[in-house]
Amino acid sequence: MPVSRLMQFIRRAKPLTIEEGVNILKRDHYRCQYCGLDGSTSFENYLVMTVDFVVPRARGGKKEPRNLVTACRPCNLIKGRHVFKSFEEAKEYVLKRREELRQEWQKRMSRLKAHKTGA
Ligand SMILES: [Zn+2]
Repeated sequence: MPVSRLMQFIRRAKPLTIEEGVNILKRDHYRCQYCGLDGSTSFENYLVMTVDFVVPRARGGKKEPRNLVTACRPCNLIKGRHVFKSFEEAKEYVLKRREELRQEWQKRMSRLKAHKTGA
């Protein structure tokens, strides 16, 4: 890899600074832009807030405010490295997947309850 390409890569891969991250959280009012979890209502919520690259860095997504959104850790994990045409499409995917996971969880918990009560 030529040095100029390498430098470009390093620049792109540079992580967000704390200040850059805080600016995104402030802009989004500490709210997950996918599920709406509000990081200002409790410390526990605040702890799971992250900054998501809408177009992942690994896919050439830039470290620019318009490519960055506040996301809770679960939404960020669910979104993973998928590439979407737009933020709206990403949001639709994340919310659909959360709902599927919620239904799996409900099934699992109702089986657990049935097991506990011997039903
Ligand atoms: Zn979320």
